[in-house]
Amino acid sequence: RKQVGKLSTGCSEFDEMMEGGIDTQSITELYGEFGSGKTQIAHQLAVNVQLPNEQGGLNGSVIFIDTENTFRPERIKQMVQGASEHHNIDYDPEEFLKNIHVARAYNSNHQILLMDSAMELAEESKNWEQPVRLLIVDSLTAHFRAEYIGRGTLADRQQKLNKHLHALQRFSDLYNAVIIVTNQVMSKPDAFFGDPTKPIGGHIIGHTATFRMYLRKSKGDKRIVRLVDSPNLPDGESIISVTPLGLTN
Ligand code: ADP
Ligand code: MG
Repeated sequence: RKQVGKLSTGCSEFDEMMEGGIDTQSITELYGEFGSGKTQIAHQLAVNVQLPNEQGGLNGSVIFIDTENTFRPERIKQMVQGASEHHNIDYDPEEFLKNIHVARAYNSNHQILLMDSAMELAEESKNWEQPVRLLIVDSLTAHFRAEYIGRGTLADRQQKLNKHLHALQRFSDLYNAVIIVTNQVMSKPDAFFGDPTKPIGGHIIGHTATFRMYLRKSKGDKRIVRLVDSPNLPDGESIISVTPLGLTN
């Protein structure tokens, strides 16, 4: 097995909670209500992963599966400017954008199918200067929720979601990649996911670790990230800020 890599979030508390950053070879689920910062973290990681190791990155490219049309190139540019200021290096936002391969998923079947293209691209990228090291699915669950309504279809939905998670797990192992999936939840337990502190889709088959983080709004631009389910780290909380130049402490 390859050594597990760590991707910095750029926030010291958050990184410390994760003992250095977000792991490769595992799936990390960000869940929380609308506006809690899931998409912002996804954008920030799409920038950070491109940085060299000494700056907390993995010198990698990104695949961004966008199911809700929330990917914003302009936001990436702002965050690259933030990284430039932070590291005192003049990064080119266009270069960063070129390394983010965005695919829109129009429904849940399409979302699952896109994993094949993602695998192909990641395979091809092994020869690139910056191979794919981060795969984002924002949102993992929106299409599934919208398409499978009512009790009778729950088993179908779960089966499909499991298949999708299995493909994501495989991807993370094959390419030593970080996998970020987002999942919007209601303030109270909902019919599909039940208790929001329990892992989605039951236990993921195989050895891939799954980290779950619950995000909630705090004062102003502050967000609280709670690690609720980790295979090897204690539960914990950290506070981040979502600023115009990206995530900070
Ligand atoms: P969700 O969890 O629904 O994906 P988002 O990640 O989209 O939530 O978070 C949206 C929030 O992020 C906004 O309400 C705002 O507080 C913050 N945000 C978005 N863009 C910017 C920006 N350019 N500058 C500062 N804060 C921003
Ligand atoms: Mg979002």
